[in-house]
Amino acid sequence: MILIQGKGVSKGVTKGKLYFFQRPDTNIEKKPATDLEAEKARLADAQAKSMDQLTALAEKCREEAGDESAVLFETHAMFVEDDDYVESIMDTLEEEQCNVEYAVKLAGEQFAAMFAAMDDAYMQARAADIKDVTQRILNNLMGIAEGGIDSDEPVILAADDLAPSETLQLDKSKILGFVTMGGSGNSHTAILARTMGIPAICGAGEALKETYQGRIAYIDGETGSLILDPDDLTLAALKDKHEKQQEMKRLLETMKGQEDITLDGRKMMLYCNIGSPEDVDAVITNDGQGIGLFRSEFLYLAASDYPTEDEQFEAYKKVAAAMNGKRVVIRTLDIGADKQVAYFDMKKEENPAMGVRAIRICLNRPEVFRTQLRALYRASAYGKVAIMFPMITSVWEVRECKRACQKVMAELEAEGIPYNKDTEIGIMIETPSSVFVADALAKEVDFFSVGTNDLTQYTLACDRQANDLGKFFDPHHPAVLRALKMATDAAHAAGIWIGICGELGADISLLPTFLAIGIDELSVSPTSVLPLRAEIRKSIAKTCTLEKLEC
Ligand code: PEP
Ligand code: MG
Repeated sequence: MILIQGKGVSKGVTKGKLYFFQRPDTNIEKKPATDLEAEKARLADAQAKSMDQLTALAEKCREEAGDESAVLFETHAMFVEDDDYVESIMDTLEEEQCNVEYAVKLAGEQFAAMFAAMDDAYMQARAADIKDVTQRILNNLMGIAEGGIDSDEPVILAADDLAPSETLQLDKSKILGFVTMGGSGNSHTAILARTMGIPAICGAGEALKETYQGRIAYIDGETGSLILDPDDLTLAALKDKHEKQQEMKRLLETMKGQEDITLDGRKMMLYCNIGSPEDVDAVITNDGQGIGLFRSEFLYLAASDYPTEDEQFEAYKKVAAAMNGKRVVIRTLDIGADKQVAYFDMKKEENPAMGVRAIRICLNRPEVFRTQLRALYRASAYGKVAIMFPMITSVWEVRECKRACQKVMAELEAEGIPYNKDTEIGIMIETPSSVFVADALAKEVDFFSVGTNDLTQYTLACDRQANDLGKFFDPHHPAVLRALKMATDAAHAAGIWIGICGELGADISLLPTFLAIGIDELSVSPTSVLPLRAEIRKSIAKTCTLEKLEC
């Protein structure tokens, strides 16, 4: 038996083949070709595969987000067969008698540079498309599957770690669980796993060897263990645990349709966090009463160029309409730090978590902000949309955001486009600064939502991505809980509601503390809704204490 110990970040026991995430090799070298005709045939094959993939993507996009989104993939398909582009590849092959990967890479670089040097901003932006198309052809040449998983059956996905943009592109139907060498409980892989309701382990370290590819493995997302060739005793324990979990799931089903209220009548708004419109199904299945955090970054991370107003509008409208009048809090763009987007062309920062990220980018780039706000306000005509700004530290930032909202509403008014002028505006409390000035901030907005992932990171000066900080990264630290209480008191003094949308919100052991503090809303992964509801319904709010705030 081989036991690899990591940290459990999403509960559940599962069994499946280990499959190591395939990442394209960016280091393509020139090699002499032994058979030029064979290289040309490989190119034709990779082009055909790319065309098939792009046609399917365009169709999927048309169904989900309308014609405008589909155009992007149709443009990419045109590039795949573009005469000049293909001629350039052929010329290199003939002249250099080399491997086709090198010829494709060279053509991609040359064409991207050519577009980037053009005067017209639209043409410059096409450089990103050329890079994307080139990478697609290269992936097909190198046998790298779309979505990183080349398997007919679902697998346990193993990786060193996954970038947010990589997790977005994964074919979720093929994943039974995750195991990563690095990462942390707050990493995007962990958040995705909890949204999907599948087990995940991070921090497995070097013990997770690529030679295990294809071996049957068991993962236990509670204890954080990955097991190969379990002995009889371990196997029996895993099976038993799995059965108990299934039984628990069945029991929790009875919680559906029940109110989120304590025995002494305190109501809690139990909402969900989502990362893309696809996740709405999970919210509805798990009976979430609203969406407390829709991370809009997915639109930017999954694209090769700035998503247009219409693309964004379609995505927000879809979620707002699907939630059928229930509140949908959409957070404006929160990129930077660990979520990098190439076409934003951001300067490299020494300390990106404290750099130009989230609202700072939006306030620095009013056009990007305006496009998103227009899409959000347009979507507000189709459901109960609320807008939330991330990484706020100062009152002037909120005022600037509100001015941008006013401007957008005036534009829509003048254009006769419907929107809801009473759309709620809220901010994330995720910096210590926002806690200290929460009284002033509360007078500016309709609600607060505490991002405990970042609040813990900034309060305790602990990198949320690092997995070796161990006990130093402690979201239960009295400083974090006191910050929650300070923000709640400020919110209530100003008559606004406050929720938690960081991962801590789903921590059942803290529910009595949240009730004692007076938190009004918890926004959690869809699969955490029913367990929390069961606990809320067993609680007596007035007997809950603030003892965890003591040092
Ligand atoms: C947080 O910081 O707690 C949060 C919810 O935002 P994100 O995890 O997307 O930074
Ligand atoms: Mg955050």
